[in-house]
Amino acid sequence: MVEKTLFIIKPDATKRGIIGKILARIENEDFKIVELKSLKLSKKKAEKFYKIHQGKPFYPELTDFMSSGKIIVCLLAREKGVKYLREVVGATDPELAKPNTLRNLFGTSIRENAVHASDSKKTADWEISFFF
Ligand code: ATP
Ligand code: MG
Repeated sequence: MVEKTLFIIKPDATKRGIIGKILARIENEDFKIVELKSLKLSKKKAEKFYKIHQGKPFYPELTDFMSSGKIIVCLLAREKGVKYLREVVGATDPELAKPNTLRNLFGTSIRENAVHASDSKKTADWEISFFF
């Protein structure tokens, strides 16, 4: 079944000028880019987006980071898209991410890990309506 999912290129990656490389990989993996926009999150909006992590030690720095620069937000569609995108993105910590995953290639720390992907169909629906 074709599924929609939400993908974000985070501020570390937009600052480093690797948006094109990341989107090329997404298209090479047969995702359709249904919607795409560039924006800067306010601290408040970043807190809302990652509210599931509220109270965790990394939450303040995560939301500072996510509101520190431009992000690219994409609504993607693909067969089994939610799970497949998580595989292409790789583990949260770039050092643990499998070779050739986006975080292995482009992440520089557990926080500055280049990209975000929805972790379930339910989350994807919520995240898509958050931005689109
Ligand atoms: P994302 O939701 O961004 O796709 P994820 O689902 O792999 O990432 P989560 O556990 O949801 O991982 O964490 C959200 C984000 O918070 C991570 O992508 C990372 O930027 C940051 N983060 C997670 N764990 C840590 C940590 N231990 N230290 C610092 N930052 C962290
Ligand atoms: Mg997550």
